[in-house]
Amino acid sequence: MATIIDGRAYAKEINQQTKQRVDWLKQRGIVPKMAVILVGDDPASKIYTRTKQKKAKALGIGCQLLRYPVEVTQEELTAEIERLNKDQTVNAIMVQEPLPEHIDNMALVSHISPEKDVDGFNPVNVGRLYNNFPGHYPVSCTPRGILMVLDHYHVPLAGADVVIVGRSILVGRPLQSLLINRDATVTMCGRKTPNLVNRLRQADIVVVAAGKPRWITGNEIKKGSVVIDVGINRLADGKLVGDVDFASARQVAGAITPVPGGVGPLTVAVMEAQTVDLTEWQHE
Ligand code: NAD
Repeated sequence: MATIIDGRAYAKEINQQTKQRVDWLKQRGIVPKMAVILVGDDPASKIYTRTKQKKAKALGIGCQLLRYPVEVTQEELTAEIERLNKDQTVNAIMVQEPLPEHIDNMALVSHISPEKDVDGFNPVNVGRLYNNFPGHYPVSCTPRGILMVLDHYHVPLAGADVVIVGRSILVGRPLQSLLINRDATVTMCGRKTPNLVNRLRQADIVVVAAGKPRWITGNEIKKGSVVIDVGINRLADGKLVGDVDFASARQVAGAITPVPGGVGPLTVAVMEAQTVDLTEWQHE
C-alpha cells in the first residue's frame, strides 16, 4: 500500500515558515503585500480570491483585491498593472483567471514586472526557468509545490523517468523545466501521445494534470511509482476527485497524493511563500 503524500500537513509547515519570515520582515518595517486583479463575477474565482485573502491575512501578508466589471478593457487593466508595478508597497501582482474573451491574458501578464510576478507567468521568468538561469525568480506555484513535496518526501529526481500528462503553462510545462533542471528524464504527454499506458507503466514518477476524473487507474502505473495527482474535478454529487483513481492506484504506487489534501493546499501555501520571496528579493 502506498505512502500517502500529505500535502495539507506539508502546506502547514510551509505556512509556519512563511509566518516567521513575515514576522521578521515586519520587525524591520516591511509588510509583504500582494495585489489580486479579479475581473467579472465568476463564482469559483470569487471563492479562490477569498481563500487567498483569508490565508494571506492569517500569515500577516497584505492582500489588496482590485475588482473590475466584465466589460473592463485591456488598456484599463494594463494601466492598473503599470500602476501596481510602480507602487512600492505592492510586492506581488496576480491576475485571477478565467478572464473574459476580449482580454488577452498573455499580453497582460507580460506587463507585470518580472520582480512582482508571483505566478511566474511573465515570459522573462518563463525564460529564466527554461534556461535554468542562476539566481532567484518566481516559478508557477503548483509545479514549484510539486517539486518541493517530492524533495520533502526524498523522492530521487536525478535519473528518474518522469511522465507528465498535461502540457499547460500553469502546470505541465514549468514542471517539465523544473524536473529537467534536476536531471530527471521527462516525457510530456498530451491528447495525441500514442501508447500512453505503456509510457505510464515505465515511469518512476507519474504526474497527471489533465482534468479527467479518476482517469488513470492502478493497472496503468508501475509498482512502487510515485503518483502526483494534480487534477481537481467536481463530480455530480459534489465530491472532489483527482485525475487518478485513488482507490486502485494506492494499491500499486509507492507513494501518492490524495485529492483533496494533496497538491491543492501546496499551491496556495507556495503562492503566499513566493510573495514573501519576492518581498525579500526586492529588499536585498
Ligand atoms: P488545461 O486544460 O490547461 O490543460 C490540460 C492538459 O491536459 C492539456 O495539455 C491537454 O492536452 C491534456 N489532456 C487532456 N485530456 C488528455 C488526454 N485524454 N490525454 C492526454 N492529455 C490530455 O488544464 P490545467 O490548468 O493544467 O489543469 C489541469 C487539471 O489540474 C484541472 O483539473 C485543474 O483543475 C487542476 N489544477 C489543479 C491545481 C492544484 O493546485 N491542485 C492547479 C492547477 C490546475
